[in-house]
Amino acid sequence: MTSTTPTNLPLVLLVDDSVDVHRLLQARLRHEQFQLIGATSGAEALQLAETMPVACILLDLDMPVMDGFEVLRALKDKSSTHSVPVIVLSGLNSSDDKVTAFDLGATDYVTKPFDLSELRARLRASLRLNHLLTLLAERADVDGLTGLGNRAHFNKRWSEQFAEASRYGHALSLAMLDVDHFKKINDTYGHPAGDEVLQRVASVLQSSCRQFDVPCRFGGEEFALIMPNTGPADAAKVAERIRQEMADLQFPRHPEQRMTISIGLAGTDGGVGAMNAEEWLESADKGLYQAKRTGRNKVTVNNLTPSQTLRLAKAG
Ligand code: GH3
Ligand code: MG
Ligand code: MG
Repeated sequence: MTSTTPTNLPLVLLVDDSVDVHRLLQARLRHEQFQLIGATSGAEALQLAETMPVACILLDLDMPVMDGFEVLRALKDKSSTHSVPVIVLSGLNSSDDKVTAFDLGATDYVTKPFDLSELRARLRASLRLNHLLTLLAERADVDGLTGLGNRAHFNKRWSEQFAEASRYGHALSLAMLDVDHFKKINDTYGHPAGDEVLQRVASVLQSSCRQFDVPCRFGGEEFALIMPNTGPADAAKVAERIRQEMADLQFPRHPEQRMTISIGLAGTDGGVGAMNAEEWLESADKGLYQAKRTGRNKVTVNNLTPSQTLRLAKAG
């Protein structure tokens, strides 16, 4: 009973064994800002909910074979459907059923026969909730000022990339970037000017790196760039391009004041040796502070390829 018209409207899945209910709601909810799709059994409902981006489910409790409670339980058990709001529909106005449905994770409850304006209002509220939850989930990892991944995102992606490079002996590089004399911009031109600089750094990072690179805002005026499958020599070229592009940028709020960045890079052509993810990050950080100490607006590269690491360890 799935409608095949593709639209950008959110999908509402109606699950009811009665074809009359489908007909009634298709007709009466026609002008709402969502697209209604339908299932007449629990099994069909679960299959649709798993394969389509459903934004809300209207679920009849009283169905043969698999009743609404069972469907609800199955929906809440799967991570792909767990957070979809479910409004339970039932002819039984029993408070036990309502309590059970809420305990199983239903968001709301509507009693048959429908008061259509109430059903519409409850549907809109559930869709609003779903929209906000989706936004929240998407943004938990995103830095609000720059739109880049935040520190939490960095931590996650860095440990993933580190683990993969260690397991398969892939090349991997990490660059840490810090804006030079950034405090002066805030102090001289105000915080919004500082914010704009950070946003420009983010867009330079985004436009200079490749599809699989991971640019993040590490915190304050510090950024990180993870470059999977990239050895230190190639990563240094990327870093140098970013450094140059930043140095060339003009800012409308302070055209006379250019902004530069210092970059510390640590990478390997393959094989991370005995180094763990944390030590690798420290190595990039050391490079960054060396770049700062020796004049700023430069890139310092640490090659962590095992023979190199060994040599450095012996020398140090
Ligand atoms: P250095 O060249 O040694 O890196 O000097 P710096 O001035 O860039 O570094 P410092 O660590 O002294 O100053 C960083 C400043 O960044 C201090 C802090 O107030 C500012 N800052 C941190 N987060 C933000 C932000 O989101 N917006 C703005 N405008 N400023 C921020
Ligand atoms: Mg700085
Ligand atoms: Mg700093």
